[in-house]
Amino acid sequence: MSRSWWLLWRRLAALFLSAALLGAITGTLLPCLLAAALGGLGWQLWRLDRLDRWLRGDREANPPPTGPVWDGIQEHIARLRRQSRKRKRKLSRLLAQFQQAAAALPDAAVLIGEDDRLLWCNGASQPLLGLASSRDLGLPITHLLRHPDFVAFLNQRRNGDSVEFPSPVDDGLSLSARIAPYGKKQRLLLATDISRIRRLEQMRREFVANVSHELRTPLTVIAGYLETLLDCDDLALAGWEQPLRRMQQQSGRMLHIVEDLLLLARLESQKERPPLKPVNIPALLADIVEDITALSGDQGHQIQIAADAGLWLLGCEKELHSAFANLAFNAVRYTPVGGRIEIGWFADHHGLHLTVVDNGEGIAPHHLPRLTERFYRVNRDRSRSSGGTGLGLSIVKHILNNHGGQLRIESQLGAGSVFTCDFPGELRVNPACGKTEAE
Ligand code: ADP
Repeated sequence: MSRSWWLLWRRLAALFLSAALLGAITGTLLPCLLAAALGGLGWQLWRLDRLDRWLRGDREANPPPTGPVWDGIQEHIARLRRQSRKRKRKLSRLLAQFQQAAAALPDAAVLIGEDDRLLWCNGASQPLLGLASSRDLGLPITHLLRHPDFVAFLNQRRNGDSVEFPSPVDDGLSLSARIAPYGKKQRLLLATDISRIRRLEQMRREFVANVSHELRTPLTVIAGYLETLLDCDDLALAGWEQPLRRMQQQSGRMLHIVEDLLLLARLESQKERPPLKPVNIPALLADIVEDITALSGDQGHQIQIAADAGLWLLGCEKELHSAFANLAFNAVRYTPVGGRIEIGWFADHHGLHLTVVDNGEGIAPHHLPRLTERFYRVNRDRSRSSGGTGLGLSIVKHILNNHGGQLRIESQLGAGSVFTCDFPGELRVNPACGKTEAE
């Protein structure tokens, strides 16, 4: 027992003893004891009331109760107060540091509440997103950032993904935004300025397109002269036929690469997108089958086609022809003599699909994720000798992207490959009226 409690008990004992003595002398023991008990209780209650007033209100006007135990309680409260003030100061310091760090961020950081209202934003949110915490706090974020891509992204709630959209302050700024959930249904929006990366990509695209364009004319001239030289019977050229043929082959290959690079540049440029029209895919595939049969020649590939005759697609015919022909030509080039090649065109509840299946050499799993990169080839010499540029699958991927589709590749080394082009069901066209399902 602490000293103060001991003191309190001693005082109470003295009170009751005095009351008992007085009661014994006067012959009123019980009333005296009762009066002592009530007096002691009232005295402690009065002190409790003072403590309550002191804690709640004006400390000057209401001094705290004193005496044994009450002094200890007062000290304890003062200690707790000191600790709490210290913690508060520490938290304020931390908050100030966090706010300084957030303000120094070159990216926009925005806190969004449960009902998509703006809770807080840092300084970079002003130049990038046009948000100011002094003005916009509490407003719905979709009233402040109205770009349809951003609104769709916000509503999808697909955390971890990112969306690109132009800054509402400056059209020339490209932003990439990510959203991370935290706390109770709150979200942190981070937006980064990616204009520099986009400009560099644009420069890279333009550079490749310009170089390819500049190379095309001289290469065509060289190829033309080589053809003329090979056609003439001049005796001075006797013995030159072999080197001339090699030169013609190589210049043809370079022209092929240049044409593919120009096609890629066109596909990447979103400005010159051709209008989408109903494309008779079964007829287009029949043409491609004719071409690959000619390419196969006497290699005796067994080529089969199973196309749904009533299934047309809304797209760009030239691009689709190029994509499907690339896959079909690859199947012939990478399938040994007598191999089987099947082309399928069908629809299911996931959308429309074109499949090119072969039982050729197949591809090892570690190559699959990189196949659509430019100039990526499993076997460089094999690709070159069969007339490949290493750009075919990259072209296919871009064409499918431009149609809202995607390329899937499944393959097993030595067993063959399946290349599937998936298209969204909305692109399905009714051949009778030339309209899509949605229309
Ligand atoms: P390339 O002009 O070299 O064929 P592509 O981009 O069309 O370039 O193909 C990239 C690589 O993918 C090829 O070099 C080849 O190794 C592999 N490939 C493509 N199609 C097939 C296939 N049907 N079977 C096996 N390998 C294939």
